[in-house]
Formats: sequence, structure tokens, C-alpha cells
Amino acid sequence: MRPDASGFSQVAKKHLGQNFLHDRAAIQKIVLAIDPQPGDRLVEIGPGQGALTFPLLDRIGALTAIEFDRDLLAPLAGAAVAHGALTLIPADILSVDFTAMAGDGQLRLVGNLPYNLSSPILFHALDHAAAVRDMHFMLQKEVVERMASGPGNKVYGRLSVMLQAYCTVVPLFTVAPGSFRPAPKVDSAVVRLIPRAPADIGIGNRRRFADVVRAAFGQRRKTLRNALDGVVDSATMLAVDVRPDARAEQLSVADFIRLANAGNGLVANAPVAEGL
Ligand code: SAM
Repeated sequence: MRPDASGFSQVAKKHLGQNFLHDRAAIQKIVLAIDPQPGDRLVEIGPGQGALTFPLLDRIGALTAIEFDRDLLAPLAGAAVAHGALTLIPADILSVDFTAMAGDGQLRLVGNLPYNLSSPILFHALDHAAAVRDMHFMLQKEVVERMASGPGNKVYGRLSVMLQAYCTVVPLFTVAPGSFRPAPKVDSAVVRLIPRAPADIGIGNRRRFADVVRAAFGQRRKTLRNALDGVVDSATMLAVDVRPDARAEQLSVADFIRLANAGNGLVANAPVAEGL
């Protein structure tokens, strides 16, 4: 792979989900949506060739970016000098401890995510939600629709319930394939996620909640009585106003929270276990 004058290779690595943004209007719209302010602790996931990194640096002068592709590090660091102080961390984002990185403060996560890793990155961010002030991510449009959908919608599922339980999900705008190089086969969308204050979430045990949601949607065609066999019994469902003959896709996020809390014999403000 021969680098061009900027030092970046012209060849995008498909296995790393590399679709680089080049549309100035789309980049400007994303930066405006993030609205970075001096002093914000921005962390960019997958800076790539700097399409978002450099305009963000121009606005606030400093940010941290985590990039897995080591071939991009030297050209990124070189080009960043003209824009501000870029702290580059060569790592797999899924191994990064945002809670440790945030210390006493909170991070603002941003990124045009590698689409092949969207769900694992979202769940990883949820694991560290208390350390995150907000997130602005570019994702496959279909994934954003799943994240934001409600009961009764055919794309409502585990991702919708898990994200909406912990965050306010705000779809912002779509971005066409032609805005990227190479163009992906799918439409894209930008979404804002704002983690709820831990006291407002009401989940007694995070692991238990995740298990109930996973089991309910694992067999989404089945009634809850069958899908949750061995996880929550029918008497417990009835005690929290959830019908055992309903299907997972009919339950609201609040229904799932009551179900998980009751099934575990926990009250809403019981200690929160680690992990999802
Ligand atoms: N931000 C750039 C842009 O908008 O043009 C690049 C976006 S591209 C869709 C995704 C970026 O994530 C690539 O730079 C890719 O190398 C990086 N990436 C892929 N897997 C990663 C991982 N596990 N951890 C960190 N970065 C990763």
C-alpha cells in the first residue's frame, strides 16, 4: 500500500470497517451536532484519516483518539500538528477502560464507527455509561432505527431495550453512501446517546436485566411464558403486570425493568452488579 502525499494509504481496509468520510457538509453537520466546547474531554473512536478529528481539534484544541490500525498512526499524528494536541492511543476500542480514562470527570465519545463492530462498541460504552456524558456516533441507518424503535415495531429488540434503559436515544440525520470513500452499501445515520443518571435508571441488577432481555428476545416469536422458562415464572410476571402470553416485542423498557427486578427479588435501588 503506497501512501499518498498526505502520508495516508489510498487503500481502505475492509475488515476494519474503513469507510472514510470526505463530504465536507456532512462533516460540518456532525461537528455542529457534537458542538464541542473548550474543556470538553472528547474521545474519538476510530479517527481513520482524521475527517472528524481535525475539525474537532480546530474547535477545541485537544482530544484523544483511539485507533486500531497502526498504519494510520504516524500520518494522523503528523497531520494533527497543524490543528491541535492529538493524543493517539493505539488500541482495540473494546479493550479501552473508559471509566479509568474518565477518572473523576466524564468523557464525550464520538466516532464514525466501524460498522462490523457497532453493537459490541455500543454495549462496551454502556458498560462505562456512568463515565460518559454523551455519545455521537455514525452507524448504519438500520442500526440507528433499531436503537430508537419502540414496542410493536418490527425492529424493536434487545438493542433497543438495552440502550433505551440506560440512555436517551436521539436519531439526528442520515448520511448517504456517496459521502464516504469507499461508499458503503448501506445508508448511514448519526445518533446522539445521553446516558441517564444512575439513580434514574431503576435497574436493580444489571446482569440480571441483561439476561432477562436476552432470553426474552432470544426467542421473540414465543410467548414470554416459554421464552422466559426458567428465568422468570408466570406468577412473577403477573405480579408486575406483565402478561405471560405476551411476546417480548410488546413489552416496554419499563416492563422489562419491573420483570428483571421482580424476578430477582430485588428492589429498584438495590446495589448494581458489574457488567451488562
Ligand atoms: N473517523 C474516520 C472517518 O470518519 O473518516 C474513519 C471512520 S471508519 C468508518 C472506522 C475507523 O475505525 C477506521 O479508522 C478503523 O481503522 C477504526 N477501527 C476499526 N476497528 C477498530 C477497533 N477495534 N478499535 C479502534 N478503532 C477501530
